[in-house]
Amino acid sequence: MEMEGGEKSRSRLCSICNQRRPALKRPKTLQQICRECFYVVFEEEIHRVIVDNNLFKPGERIAIGASGGKDSTVLAYVMSELNRRHNYGLDLFLLSVDEGITGYRDDSLETVKRNELQYGLPLKVVSYKDLYGWTMDEIVKMIGLKNNCTFCGVFRRQALDRGAALLKVDKLATGHNADDIAETVLLNILRGDIARLSRCTSIITGEDGPIPRCKPFKYTYEKEIVIYPLSYTPLILLSFSFLFGFDGTLPFIY
Ligand SMILES: [Zn+2]
Repeated sequence: MEMEGGEKSRSRLCSICNQRRPALKRPKTLQQICRECFYVVFEEEIHRVIVDNNLFKPGERIAIGASGGKDSTVLAYVMSELNRRHNYGLDLFLLSVDEGITGYRDDSLETVKRNELQYGLPLKVVSYKDLYGWTMDEIVKMIGLKNNCTFCGVFRRQALDRGAALLKVDKLATGHNADDIAETVLLNILRGDIARLSRCTSIITGEDGPIPRCKPFKYTYEKEIVIYPLSYTPLILLSFSFLFGFDGTLPFIY
């Protein structure tokens, strides 16, 4: 996009506060904004999604599906902040599934355990071994690596339901973001699965089942979830350990 000289010099300042230099261009709006304004708008947009869609009611117990990955780590942090800041009155818990995959879950479970301490949220870990009597390692040994994704999807879902029941929560919040949902929509269109197609775009699902699930990041872009922890101080950054060893380029930071 070509810009005139005058506009160009004005665009050197954050388009929200007009005071600081922009640090990134939002993929959603193409606005150039500073770090400080970015995390304010990022958090407030999620607050709006929660309020406008009545995702939670005061007094509810909510489990956050925590895998140790970027989406659920950022979700746990933002939810605990918003719960405090806006007095949602929610009891928040972290819920993790240990599939029993050597070397894969160990690191991410460590991340979740650190989040438990840093965010002050009680953590419940449900393991395949306890729930089903076997680990994914044992399944892979039996059936080979082929096809175990199908197992993972079905059993993971069930394990989260069982864990949520053990915690006696009213709802399960997951870190599915706008990119995940777009991908699922495409897959369901390709498969011609109309029932799933309408279900996968709902912000709350399973209201008739044992535990309703909701997606506070439904409108949040993955690129922003990756950038978000970078706008914080190093102390808080430590809790987002998925960033360490991150060698991808961040196209929106310059
Ligand atoms: Zn600003």
